[in-house]
Amino acid sequence: MATEAPPEEVYLFVAGTRPEAVKLSPVILALRARGSAAFLVATGQHRELFPETLAGFGLVADHDLGIMQRAQSPASVIGLLVPALADLCAALRPAAVIVQGDTASAFAGAQAAAYARCPLVHVEAGLRTGHSDPFPEEMHRRAIAQMADLHFAPTAHAAAALRREGVAPHTIHVTGNTGIDALHLTAARLAGDAGLQAALGMRFAGIDARRPLLLATIHRRENHGERLDSVLLALAVLARAAEIVLPIHPHPAVAGPVNAVLGGLPGVHLLPPLDYPAFLWLMQRATLVLTDSGGVQEEAPALGTPVLVLRDVTERSEGIASGNARLVGTETADILAAVTELLGDAGARGRMAAAALPYGAGDAARQIVEIMLARFGQSRLVAPPAALAVAGW
Ligand code: UDP
Repeated sequence: MATEAPPEEVYLFVAGTRPEAVKLSPVILALRARGSAAFLVATGQHRELFPETLAGFGLVADHDLGIMQRAQSPASVIGLLVPALADLCAALRPAAVIVQGDTASAFAGAQAAAYARCPLVHVEAGLRTGHSDPFPEEMHRRAIAQMADLHFAPTAHAAAALRREGVAPHTIHVTGNTGIDALHLTAARLAGDAGLQAALGMRFAGIDARRPLLLATIHRRENHGERLDSVLLALAVLARAAEIVLPIHPHPAVAGPVNAVLGGLPGVHLLPPLDYPAFLWLMQRATLVLTDSGGVQEEAPALGTPVLVLRDVTERSEGIASGNARLVGTETADILAAVTELLGDAGARGRMAAAALPYGAGDAARQIVEIMLARFGQSRLVAPPAALAVAGW
């Protein structure tokens, strides 16, 4: 497709979910701080959570495809996103397209870049369970690795996984995880804002500070159904001994069962999805975090809070190996045993909190930007609206 815009004006970021907002914001900020243009396209995968999380970093999407509908299948989402994003790549001719992680948005962005023959950069590359779960994320991340030109692996372990799959070693860089950068940025903002701290204290005043605090999140597709019920039953029992705080993921398969099993129970605090600073504030204060999330497995240990992973397999095996996190699965009895043991053993919790953190020092975004600029050059946003008009928007 012809384009009026001169080539290589921008670095094009494609993203659509809350974790992508958290983990790409530091890269966008670092790129702009170096005087290069970052153009962010939102796919619409998380309609509210994505813009809200971006706003916490002072960012807004430059364009919103708004393509996703509630409860749309991943396959239909990919089918809509790829041609729209390929048109945008053809119109903008970006210096590179950047995707992060393993979502449908990232997979679609990668395919669009590949079809439009734009250079592709993958942030948080090389995470593997070696299993079909989490589905479809493991499939997405493996496929993206086959298409990307630059791979930013958070750990040496992730880099080794990429090499085993035949990715050229000189295209792989170990930088740490940009999620740790985001955490540092936000923790510093919180620490410097007494008003925000006071407001959060008021907001969560209903949590009984005399009891242990168990902060839980659960959303993975493979944990929907019976496995979710089994986790919720464990939380219901644990509410006798601890405060349970559970921000409910908006996926429709999660909210119904959570409200049915835990709604109205004393000691249980069911909350809407929290803004990132509020969630961070709770992670800092939690006795234990119970989660099937990917990012939370990295963040809680970085704040010194031990993590129990509500999954059978994890692509963050570094955290299990270092002792930050324990893999407990979703069986009620296993969760009860693990939580009861740790609540009764401050020494074991202290050892988990003190274990070495495998996910980097919080300077991943700076390293990523240096390497991208060295490889693809500076970019300057001249006329994106004209390019968008060419793409038919
Ligand atoms: N998070 C948040 N509010 C919440 C729950 C999580 O801001 O109520 C953040 C969390 O700190 C992490 C990200 O959302 O940065 C993780 O998102 P999610 O668990 O949805 O995705 P995953 O990491 O599993 O891909």
